Amino acid sequence: MKKAKAVLWFFPIVILFLSLPLYADDIGRGVKMTYLGHAAFKFISTKGVVIYVAPFLSKNPKTPPDMKTVEKADLVLLTHGHGDHLGDTLSIAEKTKATVVAMAELGSYLKKKGVENVIGMNKGGSLMFRDIKITMVNAFHSSSVVEDGQIIYAGEPAGFIIGFENGFTVYHAGDTAVFGDMKILRDIYKPELSLLPIGSHYTMDPREATYAAKLLESKYVVPIHYGTFGALTGTVEDYLELMKAVPGTKVLPLKPGESIP
Ligand SMILES: [Zn+2]
Repeated sequence: MKKAKAVLWFFPIVILFLSLPLYADDIGRGVKMTYLGHAAFKFISTKGVVIYVAPFLSKNPKTPPDMKTVEKADLVLLTHGHGDHLGDTLSIAEKTKATVVAMAELGSYLKKKGVENVIGMNKGGSLMFRDIKITMVNAFHSSSVVEDGQIIYAGEPAGFIIGFENGFTVYHAGDTAVFGDMKILRDIYKPELSLLPIGSHYTMDPREATYAAKLLESKYVVPIHYGTFGALTGTVEDYLELMKAVPGTKVLPLKPGESIP
């Protein structure tokens, strides 16, 4: 009799457990995030504002086929001018009339290319876009646009802090090495989620990205910018192993096309 009762309890609990989403806690508190492969991310804010960061999609070997085209975008954030980040910005801006936020020089280039709504800014500055606070922050990398084999100066590279309407804060590091001032970003912005490159060669590797996570003290980290091309040798497996030393931060190894929550 007792056994039968226990079984009756057991099954509903198992069914409840299996029905929970992959990441049970409501990470963005209403903000939807989709990893599009490489460094590309899509956010839909609680009020429905669609934001793309580094929209390298149509030629991105990691972007799922059904996510290579963009129907709606309100805001595009560019960390720097390299092709694997500038990506489809021109065609997205033309089709959706989205506002493109970029470093001042990269912004001037985009205006010359016919992008209608461009906001050029610089590091340390913030702007409000429909109740969402966008802050441009430092990144250690380079930035240029290549046109007909000519390298065009695109200003300095950057990262972004996105403060959503509900207080949820994300740090997209862009392409960068680790730097001590990530501690300043932690102190000022307290990002709950940090998107950190781990691929090595052009950016942080898993070891540097582990140190970055230590400085940032975010609740969650999503590793990005790895495995897209042969040179990007950093792996999620190595990162997960190293991140055991940072128990306060949970690594969310999203696959391209995967969303949270
Ligand atoms: Zn890159």
